[in-house]
Amino acid sequence: MKVRTRFAPSPTGFMHIGNLRTAIFEYLVAKKYDGDFILRIEDTDQNRKVEGAIDFIYKTLNLCGFKIDEGPLNEGSYGPYIQSERKEIYKKYALELVEKNEAYYCFCTEEELNSMREKANARKKPFLYDGRCSRLSKEKIEENLRNGVPYVIRQKMPKTGTTIVEDVVYGKIKIDNSILDDQILLKSDGFPTYNFANVIDDHLMAITHVIRGKEYLDQTAKYNLLYDAFGWEKPTYIHVAMVLGEDGNKLSKRNGDASFMDLYEDGYLPSAIVNYLVLLGWSPSDNKEIFTMDELASAFDEKRISKSSSSYDVKKLKWFNQKYIKEMNDEDYIKFVRPFLTLDVSNKSEEWVNKLLLIYKNHLSYGKEINELVNIFFNEEINISSELQEFMKSDENIDLVIKTYYEELAKLEDWHPAKITEVIEIVKEKTGVKGKLLYMPIRIKISGVEHGPELPDEIYLLGREKVLKRLSN
Ligand code: GLU
Repeated sequence: MKVRTRFAPSPTGFMHIGNLRTAIFEYLVAKKYDGDFILRIEDTDQNRKVEGAIDFIYKTLNLCGFKIDEGPLNEGSYGPYIQSERKEIYKKYALELVEKNEAYYCFCTEEELNSMREKANARKKPFLYDGRCSRLSKEKIEENLRNGVPYVIRQKMPKTGTTIVEDVVYGKIKIDNSILDDQILLKSDGFPTYNFANVIDDHLMAITHVIRGKEYLDQTAKYNLLYDAFGWEKPTYIHVAMVLGEDGNKLSKRNGDASFMDLYEDGYLPSAIVNYLVLLGWSPSDNKEIFTMDELASAFDEKRISKSSSSYDVKKLKWFNQKYIKEMNDEDYIKFVRPFLTLDVSNKSEEWVNKLLLIYKNHLSYGKEINELVNIFFNEEINISSELQEFMKSDENIDLVIKTYYEELAKLEDWHPAKITEVIEIVKEKTGVKGKLLYMPIRIKISGVEHGPELPDEIYLLGREKVLKRLSN
């Protein structure tokens, strides 16, 4: 049987990295087994729907290098791929369950349900629907339907015994049937609940592996009962623990938590993001850290997904991104980073700009950061922290070193990195100072920071005027 996995987001126009991490796992399971990766849009909660959200999901997945084998914009033979267009399908299957006595019409009003809820609260018990409508007579049901009384369709749960859920990550889970609610399958507006639609769709779309957040694990008992009621084969379940935000809380749009698109727009490379995310909650059998998509597809092993939640760590993501940036060839790097540079370069040559960008290639951790890094080339004034000012006073030779640099650079005829390298040697000879005391003082004077790109390049690009002015300050 061909392996088929699906990514099933709601069209909210937002994808945080936790959702994306699930998509990555789904994609990798499909590719590992030469299977298909399907995109299904779960828009049964019409309130959360956002215009353009489907394009947004395609764009995100495409940027990440995922090929969507079937989805709303490239339908295969299992469509429609948008749940709101499948309403009739859900209704048909819900009625089939009613027919089989596995589900029933429920005509309870909001008031009746509220009073049941209050009673449960008073007894400090979780609210479970008491099943009263499952006992309605055939005549009463027909009369209500004839009179257009609003209804939902509920699943009839067994009241005793247990239901087993088998999961690749969490093993065998036993759920007591007595805690299962006669959940709603079809709402009064005719839309299915997620709990119903996911089962119908996964079956009809021939999904073999369901990969989703751990929060659905316990619910899966109810889904298994639905599969059994229809006599359908269950998929392989792979539930994955949550990715928590940096503050240890659940990721959410509301908290402005790491969204893929924000990261992308800040200049994180999709390949680096994917590489970073796949290692959140999964580890290969060796210590390899950097993977291409092809390497991932063969190395990925769903049995090695971790049971515990992991935390998003932007520092670690930066580390990955920097590694990926370093690996780019110069031309690709310039193409990548140039659009992020927002400082005014109108009076600079293209050659100067490119050289400037290049000397930071090994330092840059994300695209937008370029503006911070090159700031010293654009500002008239630089700030030297009090700590570095202390350092500048810490050795009696420092003033001499600075003075000698000034004199030698002032008279340098050919302003060029190779010549500037020679000047550094001359200063070394003339002052007898070497190592940190030779490099740090000038670096601090001209840039305000102690680390940076190659010193001759930095001096060269700053230009004689700025360098001398800063040295003499
Ligand atoms: N629409 C669900 C979600 O976004 C999908 C869960 C699933 O993959 O079944 O959480």
